[in-house]
Amino acid sequence: MKTSLRHVLPLLATVLLVVCTGLRAAPDEGGIPSSPEAILSRADDIKIKDFEGFGRLLDGLEARDAKLTPVEHWRLRFLQGWRYTWLGDYDAGRKALEEVADNATDIVLRFRATATLINLLGVGHRYQEAFVRLNQLQEMMPSIRDGKARFQGLGEASQLLSSAGQYEQAEAYAREMMENPPPGRTICIGAQHLLRAEREANRLKTLDPMFLRALDVCDATGDDVFADTMRADIAAFHLSQGRAAEAVKILTESRDGLRTLNYPALLTEYDATLAQSYFALGDLTNARRFALSAVAGSIKDEFTDPRRTGYGVLYEVERRLGNAQAALAYHEKYMEADKGYLNDVSARSLAFQIVDQQLLARKAEVDALNKQNEILRLTGALDRKEVETGRLYIVVLLASLGAIGWLLLWLRRSQLRFMKLARRDGLTGICNREHFVEQAQRVLAYGARSDRGACVILFDLDHFKAVNDTYGHAVGDEVLKRGVDVCRRALHACDVFGRLGGEEFAVLLPDCSPVQARARAEQLRLSIAATSATQARPDLTVTASFGIAGSMQCGFELHRLLVVADAALYRAKRAGRNCVFMGDTGDIPDSPYLSEARG
Ligand code: GH3
Ligand code: MG
Ligand code: MG
Repeated sequence: MKTSLRHVLPLLATVLLVVCTGLRAAPDEGGIPSSPEAILSRADDIKIKDFEGFGRLLDGLEARDAKLTPVEHWRLRFLQGWRYTWLGDYDAGRKALEEVADNATDIVLRFRATATLINLLGVGHRYQEAFVRLNQLQEMMPSIRDGKARFQGLGEASQLLSSAGQYEQAEAYAREMMENPPPGRTICIGAQHLLRAEREANRLKTLDPMFLRALDVCDATGDDVFADTMRADIAAFHLSQGRAAEAVKILTESRDGLRTLNYPALLTEYDATLAQSYFALGDLTNARRFALSAVAGSIKDEFTDPRRTGYGVLYEVERRLGNAQAALAYHEKYMEADKGYLNDVSARSLAFQIVDQQLLARKAEVDALNKQNEILRLTGALDRKEVETGRLYIVVLLASLGAIGWLLLWLRRSQLRFMKLARRDGLTGICNREHFVEQAQRVLAYGARSDRGACVILFDLDHFKAVNDTYGHAVGDEVLKRGVDVCRRALHACDVFGRLGGEEFAVLLPDCSPVQARARAEQLRLSIAATSATQARPDLTVTASFGIAGSMQCGFELHRLLVVADAALYRAKRAGRNCVFMGDTGDIPDSPYLSEARG
């Protein structure tokens, strides 16, 4: 795979900017160094500022590799790995960096190589390997006194942990970066990592003025990539707080500058947030324009958040404009992008958990082996030493062996539990969106083969935002949980029940006619409306609106069923809410499938 580095992800270019020690140094003062040591230092210093000169220095040294000392050889190998990576030859880059990380004599160099490798592996979606390397990095960390290397390592660790949902540790590393930036560095990068971790953790309730100060620092020091990444987060935060106009203002002011940085991944983040913001403001033309740009700028075959957001907005725009055919097409793309993105997110967090468990298991195994050796030793010594004491030791050791065995068993079980957790919605315990889609598609495929009709019910709580606004988010959460409990009681064991997001839910009813589905939806509607929404406030009730689609009209493809059910739900909302609407084939009049079904 040979692509220009800057076209991959902000992550990778970011690390290389941080790795670079001479990026903002004064121009090279000339004079060709002759000792390998001096050449290596010069090469390390100029690698971004003068990439070609850097390449020439390396070429010269490569010819002399056989005569280099081991320390010099590994430094050279590190720079070669860096050069391959910069040129987009990630396989060669990874190989060189792995050699350095595993074999170099100098621990600081091993640390730098490991940090760069973590980034490279993350970009390549090789998450399990990345977390194994992260563990090695963390083991080296206490002995790393070199400020620049440590700074780089902290940045890598923070980003990777954030991406796997380990926000607390990610924030701690970012804070250390802010407290102790090495010479030539400021609070800028640490603050950027901290802001992203806090926003992704949903912990950002207000915008600490410290972040705005850090943004000024980034601007003043010319750390444009970090400044613009902070702007992307600040704008997304404003949008999440209902301040779409503010988000548009921030992004529009800096978008042109960002374009000149030639940083496509960040630009798609900007465009996705702009698309959502314009949509929230009712400006459909601009919403569509930026959504198209977010989608077009996304890397092919990469399921990023901007890509799914872009398709999501395009779907909403076309739906709002009544362009059913286009809406259907975008919905299909959205579902695909959403699934890919969620897969990647859960792959990251699963990789973290798996590596964590493996390390614990390995430690327990080593302990068990040590204990076994101890038992053998003691058994041998029993003949000669005090028999009673020895026996006591053996009993104690056998007991601890048993405990370790139990621990190993527990670890295996908890690995299985993690797999299960990745499929559940954290708040309500029902299927999350990704798992719902998987299960529903499986059931529908069976329905299609056995020619048994199935229906989808889609429902959305009414005026739920008002519940949050009036009683607070915690009460809103409880309302969601109670609503799900009420529905669960009314559902059958074979029904697939999932939370698609926010306060929107879906139920797939296998072997069910539209008439039966309507009755079941009515039952759900009445149950929700009749139950007090929280224990603490018996007077508070909520209602929900329902849309239904059946395979008899729409076929057995899930996304078509969801589009039709969604359109029916939309009509239920417009008709005053707290009611059930059947999906109408007229909602998507030109759908090729529907004409087929009619014919
Ligand atoms: P409508 O009747 O048209 O559906 O109005 P609504 O207020 O229910 O719809 P809207 O989409 O405007 O608001 C949905 C709200 O749901 C906004 C969001 O803050 C809230 N929400 C989404 N996920 C959660 C969650 O996990 N917990 C809580 N408490 N609120 C959530
Ligand atoms: Mg709602
Ligand atoms: Mg909703």
